[in-house]
Amino acid sequence: MSKPIKHIVVVGGGSAGWITAGLIAAEHDVISDSGVRVTLVESPDVSLIGVGEGTWPTMRATLAKLGISESDFIRDCNASFKQGTRFDCWHNGSSDDRYYHPFILPNGYLKTNLAESWLAIRDRVSFADAVSVQSHLCAHGLAPKQAATPEYAAVANYGYHLDAGKFAVLLQKHCTHVLGVRHILDHVTQVENDEQGYIVSLACKDSGPLEGDLFIDCTGFASLLLGKHYKVPFVSRKQNLFIDTALAVQVPYESEDSRIESQTISTAQSSGWIWDIGLSSRRGVGYVFSSAHASDAMAEKELRAYIEPALGPESESISLRKIAINPGHRQKFWHKNCVAVGMSAGFLEPLEASALVLVELSAQMISEQLPATREIMPLVAKRFNEKFLYRWDRVIDFLKLHYVLTERKDSEFWIDNCDVHSVPESLRELLQLWRYRVPWHADLAQADEVFSSASYQYVLYGMGFHTKRSAAMRRARDQSEADRLFEENRKKTKQLLSSLPTNRELINQIKQFGLPQGKVA
Ligand SMILES: Cc1cc2nc3c(=O)[nH]c(=O)nc-3n(C[C@H](O)[C@H](O)[C@H](O)COP(=O)(O)OP(=O)(O)OC[C@H]3O[C@@H](n4cnc5c(N)ncnc54)[C@H](O)[C@@H]3O)c2cc1C
Repeated sequence: MSKPIKHIVVVGGGSAGWITAGLIAAEHDVISDSGVRVTLVESPDVSLIGVGEGTWPTMRATLAKLGISESDFIRDCNASFKQGTRFDCWHNGSSDDRYYHPFILPNGYLKTNLAESWLAIRDRVSFADAVSVQSHLCAHGLAPKQAATPEYAAVANYGYHLDAGKFAVLLQKHCTHVLGVRHILDHVTQVENDEQGYIVSLACKDSGPLEGDLFIDCTGFASLLLGKHYKVPFVSRKQNLFIDTALAVQVPYESEDSRIESQTISTAQSSGWIWDIGLSSRRGVGYVFSSAHASDAMAEKELRAYIEPALGPESESISLRKIAINPGHRQKFWHKNCVAVGMSAGFLEPLEASALVLVELSAQMISEQLPATREIMPLVAKRFNEKFLYRWDRVIDFLKLHYVLTERKDSEFWIDNCDVHSVPESLRELLQLWRYRVPWHADLAQADEVFSSASYQYVLYGMGFHTKRSAAMRRARDQSEADRLFEENRKKTKQLLSSLPTNRELINQIKQFGLPQGKVA
């Protein structure tokens, strides 16, 4: 039990594998021989899942920690800036039905709950427009910073849209050349345990056995170690989230100057929703839908109709890629000396791009709490499992929130989504609470929630949710401070609208000149 944990073996070379290997290598200083070694083995026979993907602002700190230059990242991954998500047709399906969930917090959010005062003016201005600059920036296709803003610094909080295949290539190059991660290209065929059930080695097809002390399963949907080897049960969440199929397609821009959207666009359809992600080189578009509510042919028809304005007749023949999704997660994520990160741990529809952020959070916790010996491993595993089971539940609550507030009744998909039995009890409780007061910091249990109360505000009030304004709420509110913050937001919006470049302009500048080097925490 006192065996030291010296060799970490990561299986899988998608974003999950490389981010995890890289963060551990960077933080444990593998190069200077701190005693920890990191090896990543990936199969040449199993390809990555990667479609065009959206990240959270957390990705900036992750890339900075890995030591990757933001300018290189933008160039090499065909990346663009993402400032949130625009939800079209989710509330009632009408032509002007849209709202934003921006990354920026409502103005003054740490101290003042502007939502209370916004309720009085809700008929005049949308919540996101009243409390943040970012919905305005997105509406104009503007970038979240200037060409002179240093790498990873922001004028308005931002994440990225990126090409996942190219991202894995950049991470591989950086992790192997700069961070000292050893890379083996081989297919893992078997797993060997010791008598206590701990993994001692992996059998690789060509290179023989690979020994290690901690094994990180990043094998995607295969879930080779945690699922197939240890048979840790899969917890299906299909009763809450019905989406189980994706059809993906790549759509070229009309011209080199076409607008690059500054947010993911999520457009509700009859049996799911279509994502539309603007990379610098092309758009990544896809329909995620419930196979219980639509056949492949029905979904394909809706997707082809969506891309028709951009592609014309070609929209009828362009090939689509089908991906099966099993919504849910493993019953636990860390078992013995094996921990799953990424899609081997679970997957949910990409409505709020929560997959990569869970990868970043998992990799960060493994790296920070890396057990020194096997003796301490069960304790670290227990804490990891508790933390991430809580997080998966909260992500499910938040995704379901987008569905339960709809007034759409035009298909069984939307009607079934409002069935109370499909709504987790924890979400039902919160919704009851928020009928009488607006969401605020203490409504959620943990300090480091994946989705903050601000995110709940954006979705609730974007979807037209009604909170009754009580006399107590009116009394407690500091109206003059709220008026000051609304006015400040208006002024800042005006100033940024006239000073920020477009997303396309900034990306072109970066490709040519790069961003100034900067220091980011
Ligand atoms: C339709 C769709 C849309 C998505 N959109 C988003 C989004 O917008 N934002 C977001 O954050 N996430 C999104 N995701 C999720 C995101 O793609 C993944 O979380 C991310 O790419 C990490 O994947 P992964 O590394 O876990 O798995 P993969 O990319 O599938 O990598 C698996 C790796 O395991 C290796 N492997 C498998 N079996 C073996 C074996 N026997 N031996 C050795 N190696 C093996 C493979 O070779 C590969 O290298 C989306 C996913 C889907 C399906």
